[in-house]
Amino acid sequence: MKETSNFCPCKSGLAFTECCLPFIQAHETTIKNEMSLTPPTPEKLMRSRYCAYAIQNYHYIINTYTASKAKSLSINVIENDCQHTQWLNLQIIHSSESTEKGEVEFVAFYKDKGEFFCMHERSLFIKELGQWKYHTGKVLDKTGKLKPERNKLCLCGSGKKFKRCCC
Ligand SMILES: [Zn+2]
Ligand SMILES: [Zn+2]
Repeated sequence: MKETSNFCPCKSGLAFTECCLPFIQAHETTIKNEMSLTPPTPEKLMRSRYCAYAIQNYHYIINTYTASKAKSLSINVIENDCQHTQWLNLQIIHSSESTEKGEVEFVAFYKDKGEFFCMHERSLFIKELGQWKYHTGKVLDKTGKLKPERNKLCLCGSGKKFKRCCC
């Protein structure tokens, strides 16, 4: 078996260091350097935000919201909401963009206190000062609690049966 821990949590199939991590790391230095590396498309921003949730870098989450949304958010609230969340998988269903706006529809799977959930959302992204930012999301119909079957393939995309993987 291939060592999987170096793969990007966003399930692009690329190494974390060659996919979303550079955006999250660059963000740490953005305070000093305004011209830091930022995701070039709404989909890349969405993927990097998923990864930031997965590695619990909530500063990145707040700072990639549009300015008007970021104002009303608190890192403590996000930290508290996500305390027990274990992110398992991300699938991008559709993404599109114009010069100033973008949309990404995705499903994300996660485990929280021993239960499994799907988040199905259409996210709206807006370009602010030349950088893509997350503005809002509309919850779609696959969202909700899941009951994975023990003998079916695991939600995380490992290719293993659920009972031998994330259960
Ligand atoms: Zn990635
Ligand atoms: Zn699994």
